[in-house]
Amino acid sequence: MVYIKISEEFQNGAQELLNLFFPGNGFVFVDDIPEVSSCDILITLNIEIRDNGLDIKIRMRQGNRNLYSETARIDNETGAEKARTPVKVLLYNCLSHYTGRKLPWGSLTGIRPAKIVHSLLKEGLSPDDAYRKLINYYGLSDSKARLTVEVALNEAEYIRNAENKVSIYIGIPFCTSRCIYCSFPSAAIDRYEHLVSDYLKALYKEVQWACRWIREKNYTVDTVYIGGGTPTALPEKWLDYLLNRIVPVLPLDNIREYTVEAGRPDTLNIEKLRIIKNAGSTRISVNPQTMQDRTLKLIGRNHTTSQVIESFNMAREEGFDNINCDLIAGLPEETEKEFEDTLLKIGKLNPENVTVHTMSYKRASRLINEKDCFMQTDDETVNNMVELAGSYLRSIGMRPYYLYRQKNILANLENVGYAKPGTEGIYNMLIMEEVQTILAFGAGASSKIIYPGNRIERVFNVRNIEQYIQRIDEMIERKVKLLGS
Ligand code: SF4
Repeated sequence: MVYIKISEEFQNGAQELLNLFFPGNGFVFVDDIPEVSSCDILITLNIEIRDNGLDIKIRMRQGNRNLYSETARIDNETGAEKARTPVKVLLYNCLSHYTGRKLPWGSLTGIRPAKIVHSLLKEGLSPDDAYRKLINYYGLSDSKARLTVEVALNEAEYIRNAENKVSIYIGIPFCTSRCIYCSFPSAAIDRYEHLVSDYLKALYKEVQWACRWIREKNYTVDTVYIGGGTPTALPEKWLDYLLNRIVPVLPLDNIREYTVEAGRPDTLNIEKLRIIKNAGSTRISVNPQTMQDRTLKLIGRNHTTSQVIESFNMAREEGFDNINCDLIAGLPEETEKEFEDTLLKIGKLNPENVTVHTMSYKRASRLINEKDCFMQTDDETVNNMVELAGSYLRSIGMRPYYLYRQKNILANLENVGYAKPGTEGIYNMLIMEEVQTILAFGAGASSKIIYPGNRIERVFNVRNIEQYIQRIDEMIERKVKLLGS
């Protein structure tokens, strides 16, 4: 057993790292130093205020044998907040020393690695210095450090001057069937179509409030993202109502991007594509996830690979010149060969963006409970898939432009958006780097308000569709409370 004595406020961060080194909970937090047997491990992490700074010390021992110790000093700071990163770094170094394992993302467990690079560049470090710091201090592997710096540099021009603007997210929580890994609010449209009309009315109310607020504050709308669920699961009449009645209420004169997720290829037809195009959308997503029919069936997507090709080509013929395709590396029971085949088939379609997700087991998904029914991809295979995707997409002229990590992601890897230069999904970068307020509407949507000095506040809407409809005034009130009417 591994015992760890660390003050409570650092336990969450420590737990994330400990889970990666000792999956299956082979560790326990303790308040007092216990009597340990000669085979137990004891880690103590002490933080002391001394000479107007912080001394942080980690020590690992087995029985009476000292296995590891390291110290760090922070001058002129005594707040616990400042100790979070060094605590994680020391713990990572200690665990890595003990297990002989290095993790690709080193001590980083957060969602947004590129944000660290942006702060380092702001502090005056060069990109090369930032890359070295990611490796030497945070413990990243060479390839993850390179990727992170590359993403930060590629997104820099798009996220500059994002203040005094807001972006809009509208969630449509309906879909055709439920993918086994889905954790989004998404009700089957054939069962819940009777809720669509009231849902859109409630949404209309929220958007009208936002419009007043935006005009009053003299803000402009920068980007719009219609996601879900799958917005194109809506019947034509309602999709038209959403895009031609609700969205245009917003002041859209200065938008840089307008994305509509047309995620499920089986929801698309010419009429819907024309509605989206005529509404002014500049970017859509047609998401295959995989180009293997066997896997599509297994993961509960009611469409085939031929439908992906058909829908994609239909969108092209309708004039869409910025199409994103989402893929997932590490889908249950999929081999490296099949993933490679998927990449080649996607390459043939020639999309502008490809977002490569690594399979993650989310709490709200069906998969988390049915994990044992499927063969899970091993770490080495999923790692190879992710590397392969990166080199293939670069070879067809794309570059990584946004990056994020999630909990319970296979092999502790990441999700990366690739794009042909000039076609990057701007909303994705803004939300990831937290440089602009995102007002989010619909069931399960969460708004993120960015204040000067890196302060961030969130406002959540209820996830349940019926509750959202019934409590729409309360959803608006929650925003008013934080933002003013
Ligand atoms: S297509 Fe998207 S929203 Fe629909 S079930 Fe699958 S993951 Fe969920």
